[in-house]
Amino acid sequence: MKVAKFGGSSVADATQILKVVDIVKADPDRRIVVVSAPGKRSSDDIKVTDLLIAAAEARLKGRPGTEEMAAVLARYEEIARDLGLAAEALTSIAADLDERLGAATADGARFTEAMKAAGEANCARLVAEYLGAAGTEAHFVEPGEAGLLLSEEPGNARVLEAAYGRLRALRQRPGITVFPGFYGYSPSGRLVTFPRGGSDITGAVLAAATGAELYENFTDVDSVFAADPKLVSEPRPVAEITYREMRELSYAGFSVLHDEALEPVFRAGIPVAVKNTNNPAAPGTRIVPTRQVGAEPVVGIAATGGFCTVFISKYLMNREIGFGRRLLGLFEDEGIPFEHTPSGIDNLSVVVGEEYFDQAAEGRVLKRVRTELEADEVSVKRGLALVMVVGEGMHQTVGLAARATTAFARAGVNLEMINQGSSEVSMMFGVKEAEVAAAVQSLYTEFFGS
Ligand code: ASP
Repeated sequence: MKVAKFGGSSVADATQILKVVDIVKADPDRRIVVVSAPGKRSSDDIKVTDLLIAAAEARLKGRPGTEEMAAVLARYEEIARDLGLAAEALTSIAADLDERLGAATADGARFTEAMKAAGEANCARLVAEYLGAAGTEAHFVEPGEAGLLLSEEPGNARVLEAAYGRLRALRQRPGITVFPGFYGYSPSGRLVTFPRGGSDITGAVLAAATGAELYENFTDVDSVFAADPKLVSEPRPVAEITYREMRELSYAGFSVLHDEALEPVFRAGIPVAVKNTNNPAAPGTRIVPTRQVGAEPVVGIAATGGFCTVFISKYLMNREIGFGRRLLGLFEDEGIPFEHTPSGIDNLSVVVGEEYFDQAAEGRVLKRVRTELEADEVSVKRGLALVMVVGEGMHQTVGLAARATTAFARAGVNLEMINQGSSEVSMMFGVKEAEVAAAVQSLYTEFFGS
């Protein structure tokens, strides 16, 4: 049995949904189908999830939100009409959207979560309905009923262990199960969503829970590429990659698969196939537990901006037992997650995401580091990007760091930070955001040729 997940572009309109149906019907093992909300039909289009968020925000600001919601309904109208579905399908979607928009807003987060989930819920209903009308037994399954239990963290939920046992029963369901991605319920019965792009996580959880032989993730590219095609022209496709390589590349900006989607399948040892809905015959990329490293120790190069470094220096820091704990405890108190902590003898840098570190947070943290930790010096550098060179061959190949740093030098890019050692499969470099393109292009040429 296989779990097949289809992303937003795969269900953006009726033409795309027809491709999904063909793919599902082509393999009787594809028994669980997870769908996203309809995504962009063209580069300047708006995703249904974003339209729903706009409608929710309008209502929370005291406006009716009906105008924004009309844009959502129009998307489903177009799909239902082009699929030739009976009028009732749309009537029930309109009623569902009305009900969500009209719900109480006293708890803003709760209201917004239910609005966001409407994209996937109604898309899954439509796909199940169309499959049924086309003569294939298919059933929409509501995540709450199936037991997809999530932590009570609105917009950032994680799957709870208890969910796996409950979801296992999906294996026994007749026909094709069409399951909406992106949301589940907390133990207290509250609807909660995963982080954005989280339908990938839903698919991975269902694959792990049901012991699927394969998790297929259908998107709009033929494969994962060795570098971002926006930075490198025609980068080479990656046929096979390990979970941990993929995890590191996803973390650093490879957006093909959500980085939290790998953990459930990794634990269950289920391979993942990244495939293209628009070209299902292409071999795609397989994400597997181990691979032959061969002559190519590096599998990909990724980069992502939006970080800042908090640099702390204190003479004899190395002898001050508990300094690191107290420093990180301070970030914990302020609710700021840290990403990396490169360190020297008397200094330590804490790399954090800028989204968690506005001017107010910076003011509080710097003051506390000076007064509570009596640091000699503390400063912040913004606009940092992390460039990662990733590959299973990393830790046993001599000379890779030299090749990487030479590539940076060749591009005239200054290295703000180097972090290597903790991860066996990657080397991480901090550079200024403005220098990312030059850095990635030079690294790509070094490791893969021009
Ligand atoms: N529809 C949600 C989003 O746009 C989840 C997903 O597509 O995976 O983030």
